[in-house]
Amino acid sequence: MADPARDAGHVDAPPRVGFFTDTSVCIGCKACEVACKEWNALPEDGLSLTGMSYDNTAGLGASTWRHVAFIEQTAPEPAGVPKADGRTELPLADGGSGGGDLRWLMSSDVCKHCTHAACLDVCPTGSLFRTEFGTVVVQEDICNGCGYCVPACPYGVIEQRPSDGRAFKCTLCYDRLGAGQEPACAKACPTESIRFGPLEELRERAALRVDQLQAAGVSGARLYGADPANGVGGDGAFFLLLDEPEVYGLPPDPVVTTRDLPTMWKHAGGAALSLVGGFLLSFVLSGRPQGTARRKGRR
Ligand code: SF4
Ligand code: SF4
Repeated sequence: MADPARDAGHVDAPPRVGFFTDTSVCIGCKACEVACKEWNALPEDGLSLTGMSYDNTAGLGASTWRHVAFIEQTAPEPAGVPKADGRTELPLADGGSGGGDLRWLMSSDVCKHCTHAACLDVCPTGSLFRTEFGTVVVQEDICNGCGYCVPACPYGVIEQRPSDGRAFKCTLCYDRLGAGQEPACAKACPTESIRFGPLEELRERAALRVDQLQAAGVSGARLYGADPANGVGGDGAFFLLLDEPEVYGLPPDPVVTTRDLPTMWKHAGGAALSLVGGFLLSFVLSGRPQGTARRKGRR
């Protein structure tokens, strides 16, 4: 597995840590949002609902580092799963086409702490940096408000605060990690929907949980962001979803936006060299007849 902390120069880096958010047990209580705000002293978002759901922010932002999505939709017809003893267990949710009762999908979203983080690649001041834990942190006192990181993030996570233009996002509670504590959201979650720990262990736990749900008839259960071969090299914060990522407002196939930068620079360099070469050649060629003409005139 790629080790972004070592790649960033942390020679004695501890095991990479992250979040596994199991949305199948999220009850939408928002304790994670509140704990995040409280610990990080984030400004309030206002109390007016969006009108689309029991949601007052609709997404992550400069002052919303955890966001609990509420998706209300028609549930698929439950397919009974007969057990060995003859009883039938109904699945909680399924990825079918609809037709049943209403269902709620809840998911606490957060910065993905990407293995290949484009936000970090484009930051000109070093405000965004890779920690020894493999996480991505933005330092508010170094951010100059250029905003390059905002379009670079393939998940639309990081945002500038309108009051001063500086960018903010989840730090995976870097200060708490340094003190041997787990992040505030994971600590506050009453159902353990948010799990914190070494990433390798979380991936193993998540794979077992998907198998368990699939065996119970929840055929829509799948992992999102856990695959180290995905477009960002695997997410440090990944999810167990009960439906397609798009249903939760997540991009289905995110790619690190700086992936093509080396090729682009190579092409730009080639174009610049051709331009300079063409200019020099035209200068040389245009100089010849003039010199000949001058010599002829002197005779
Ligand atoms: S999700 Fe966006 S803000 Fe978070 S590390 Fe990845 S690129 Fe950066
Ligand atoms: S604290 Fe846990 S159960 Fe409550 S909304 Fe957050 S993730 Fe869901």
